[in-house]
Amino acid sequence: MNFVLEPVNPKKVNLLDLDRKGLAAFFVGLGEKPFRATQLLKWIYQEDVQDFDLMSNLSKSLRAYLTENCVIETPEIVVEQIASDATRKWVMQTHCGNRVETVFIPEEGRGTLCVSSQIGCALACTFCSTAQQGFNRNLSTAEIIGQVFVAQKRLGTTAKITNVVMMGMGEPLLNFDNVVAAMNLMMDDFTYGLSKRRVTISTSGVVPAMYRLTEVCDVSLAVSLHAVRDELRDELVPINKKYPLKELMEACRDNAKIAPRRTVTFEYVMLAGVNDSMDDARGLLKLLKTVPAKINLIPFNPFPGSSYRCSSKDTMNQFKALLNDAGIVTTIRKTRGEDIDAACGQLVGQVQDKSRRHLKLTNAGSNHVA
Ligand code: SAH
Repeated sequence: MNFVLEPVNPKKVNLLDLDRKGLAAFFVGLGEKPFRATQLLKWIYQEDVQDFDLMSNLSKSLRAYLTENCVIETPEIVVEQIASDATRKWVMQTHCGNRVETVFIPEEGRGTLCVSSQIGCALACTFCSTAQQGFNRNLSTAEIIGQVFVAQKRLGTTAKITNVVMMGMGEPLLNFDNVVAAMNLMMDDFTYGLSKRRVTISTSGVVPAMYRLTEVCDVSLAVSLHAVRDELRDELVPINKKYPLKELMEACRDNAKIAPRRTVTFEYVMLAGVNDSMDDARGLLKLLKTVPAKINLIPFNPFPGSSYRCSSKDTMNQFKALLNDAGIVTTIRKTRGEDIDAACGQLVGQVQDKSRRHLKLTNAGSNHVA
């Protein structure tokens, strides 16, 4: 065997950072055949073997090289909470000491894992508690796929992860390459083999990245809409100032073209007296007239310090009925894991804020003039 690659830096390569394509290139760089990639994926993800010495279909010298130069490293579960409805939340610690949260939602016939993409979030959606944490950094591919790996291992044979939603902490499209590599990994036949209909990425509307995604990765798309007028959306989802509704809708239409009968799911958080009038519902119909859409209404989940209230059950039902009657499939998201703060928008982890958001908010809120 002819090793042409010396590790560039003394730090070992974390093999969970590489999807099949990346691994194939890695092995070719070592003078190996590209199919070593699928062998390795199978060992790691399907056979749960992390000791390179036990990977019996790799040559002895390759095993020795991997032992010397590579690691299989995941985030580590430091807290596990199980809600009364059996939803589980794990706090996972990354090597840098920050913590992110991952949630498993068991349902009849399926198990959905809600995965984080960043430590904190750089966006400042006013109704989301992750936003209040500020931002530290993007998660690596290993830290994203590692959440699936660790969660499935922890669940063992008691439950299977059948669906993944990139709806945990962070804006996945602002960590494009690592998120796409991790999603490719989840869908790989040699790992978990999830179908593209069972992997969903949710975005607040990073329009240029939405076009890129349509081109390179066919997964289900969910868009956090939350308002049908630019003026209100500017306030709730501030990235709207950069990419307003008209541009967002155009990107959604583009994504829907990937395949016939494909739909985009629009998430709409129900905020009492803010975005929940029948006029808003009619506005939603108008906005989505030319996009193949489904709507998912999300009851607002409060968190300490939040000033919004959730719309009443009656209002949510009327809102839903108006949309359904007009022919758009509309559901109200069942709130899960509320008693352990695992519901949408409640994930906080532990973030060493580098964006100094906290400072900015404090200053903005004080009367002090420098
Ligand atoms: N940043 C991405 C991924 C987060 S997904 C995005 O914005 O889509 C989490 C979903 O929960 C998003 O639709 C988000 O807007 C919504 N959400 C955030 N805070 C919430 C809260 N307090 N109550 C209900 N839903 C919330």
